[in-house]
Amino acid sequence: MDTLKKLAILSAAAKYDVSCSSSGSDRGKRKGMVGNATLSGICHSWSEDGRCISLLKILMTNVCSYDCAFCVNRRSNDVPRATFTPEEIAELTIGFYRRNYIEGLFLSSAVHTSPDYTMEKLLATVRQLRQVHRYNGYIHLKAIPGADERLIQAAGQFVDRMSVNIELPSAESLQLLAPQKQREHILQPMAQINHGITANREERRTFRRAPRFVPAGQSTQLIVGATTEDDRRICQLAEGLYRRFQLKRVYYSAYVPVVDNPKLPALTAPPLKREHRLYQADWLLRFYGFGADELLDPAQPYLDLDVDPKTGWALRNLHFFPLEINQADYAQLLRVPGIGVQSARRIVAARRMGTIHFEHLQRIGVVLRRARYFITCQGRYYGQAAFDAMAIRRKLVGTSTPAAAGEQLSLF
Ligand code: SF4
Repeated sequence: MDTLKKLAILSAAAKYDVSCSSSGSDRGKRKGMVGNATLSGICHSWSEDGRCISLLKILMTNVCSYDCAFCVNRRSNDVPRATFTPEEIAELTIGFYRRNYIEGLFLSSAVHTSPDYTMEKLLATVRQLRQVHRYNGYIHLKAIPGADERLIQAAGQFVDRMSVNIELPSAESLQLLAPQKQREHILQPMAQINHGITANREERRTFRRAPRFVPAGQSTQLIVGATTEDDRRICQLAEGLYRRFQLKRVYYSAYVPVVDNPKLPALTAPPLKREHRLYQADWLLRFYGFGADELLDPAQPYLDLDVDPKTGWALRNLHFFPLEINQADYAQLLRVPGIGVQSARRIVAARRMGTIHFEHLQRIGVVLRRARYFITCQGRYYGQAAFDAMAIRRKLVGTSTPAAAGEQLSLF
């Protein structure tokens, strides 16, 4: 099979993996090397369905010895198969890079023969790119759960980012849909990579020229909507992963109904809106000081599909509002729907110069369409609605009752 045919098969097979954002590496040009991984050298573009398309995103192989029910590449699925050699991937990458087609490589793989065999081939590929082709651009590599930790350690010295896919939110779901995968085989390399990153940071404080280890950090991907876990469970899991392993990102991938299997929900389309709300909630966990148990609780285990998670939280916690713009502290301002990190900072800075008037807020970057219901400015409320959750919801989305979130689960 020629390389182009393989490329067609293996780039199509990789499209379900969404964890390919390339932010975080700041390595510049190096003498005698090709490319760089600076932010300006790696621009992100997104396809219509929100997938990152700025990297050469391929699988090394889609020949898989596992049979994960949700996956198009599972062993029992009758699809065309192909396998790249490390040399082929290295030549493709450097060739595309020189022609300016790509800004980096995202390399994943099915489990060919065994985790160790696959990881050895992945390691050979990235080693060849760095040492033979002197490629200095961005590389994001998937670590194969269950592979020997020495292989993962060695690969970490050649790549910018590594990720281990957690795949499903619980060990029970993994057992149901991907019985050959074990939760501990996924968490163990995450812990190893985290430890390697921390140790490398320490080492480089003493020896500035010590080789880097996964300098852009690690991420993971989680499939949403293929199993029964609610959004609360997913947010709790993400929060735990950020805390335990210092992940850069958790990527949420709406389950794309690719297979007909009674263990899977009979969806007609991926739950993209749910995926979007989870990304918003994730943002609140990482940058806005929210905890998973604040955003959702046992009585409200799904994110409101009609409003963003911060607005949903505000509507359930109206006792926290209205906040006076001229007095609320930074952490309180971050809780106001329509006020982001930048606008909260600007408000705090502007208050040092004098009183803020309502007319200033739009220029500061506040989204008044949402914020006006939750603030006062110089003591005056501009909400144009009764200060009541149902009235505010009606103003915001035209209805006073939340949509039935997570509704696709009833199709099991
Ligand atoms: S290991 Fe599972 S998820 Fe990964 S390619 Fe194979 S079947 Fe798909």
